[in-house]
Amino acid sequence: HLMAAFGEGRVLRNECVIDLRGVSKDFASGPSTVHALRPATMALNRGEFVLLEGPSGSGKTTLLSIMGLLLQPSAGQIEICGTRVTGLSEDKLPSFRLKHVGFIFQSYNLFPALSAIENIKLILKLKGYSWSERRKEAPRLLERVGLEDCMHRKPSDLSGGQRQRVCIARALAGDSDVILADEPTAALDTKTGIEIIELLRDEARSGRKAVLVVTHDPRLEKYATRLDRISDGVHIPGAPMPRRTRTISERRPAYEFAH
Ligand code: ADP
Ligand code: MG
Repeated sequence: HLMAAFGEGRVLRNECVIDLRGVSKDFASGPSTVHALRPATMALNRGEFVLLEGPSGSGKTTLLSIMGLLLQPSAGQIEICGTRVTGLSEDKLPSFRLKHVGFIFQSYNLFPALSAIENIKLILKLKGYSWSERRKEAPRLLERVGLEDCMHRKPSDLSGGQRQRVCIARALAGDSDVILADEPTAALDTKTGIEIIELLRDEARSGRKAVLVVTHDPRLEKYATRLDRISDGVHIPGAPMPRRTRTISERRPAYEFAH
């Protein structure tokens, strides 16, 4: 496990970690059907930091939940790290998800009775780390997100930004291949939100992970390597953005942000 955590010189950048082909989701809503996600085809590669923007109810969480194997699609094919997930039986999905996917939610969903480090040790335990590996790896993960000074605090004694850092450390645990974050900055002030986004961006930049973040905040666009949009369930993949190229929103006059 620790060998895997340090990457051991693997060249992985640009390798596809999630591949969706014609993936859609319908929900029955009484006599009618909600087309939450129209057939979407997209790939997410290591090294990419993709932002997904769209209004409320447009299908962002549905798409993310399908990518994270929390929700079965109504149609289409999903491959994660080369394995066709749509063919896997229900009982194999949780362990497959645990191995490959780190999920960050808007509401922190940490165990309130456990300290930051205990929360991390718990996920490592679920991922099969031994006691001594957990003891070594959990502080390392919390240091990576800048929480070395509050490892033993419970979530209620941490600020919103610190709690979200614990969630990032948890999503990084066990060297997951992809991090999916559903509005991770929504409950944070702007400065803290940007710190969290920079932390996630750096994980993508390492080239070993793919990161997809759902956001409403156009100020985060400049961090993305790709900007996808979704509207009424229709996913519109963006073109890859070269680094340091100014995004449209940066060129937009500042008064447009005033609302
Ligand atoms: P977003 O995250 O962009 O706000 P969602 O993916 O949560 O949007 O929802 C997309 C659409 O699907 C919405 O119209 C929502 O009401 C509907 N929807 C989501 N989950 C369910 C569900 N479990 N049952 C019925 N409708 C749902
Ligand atoms: Mg949502």
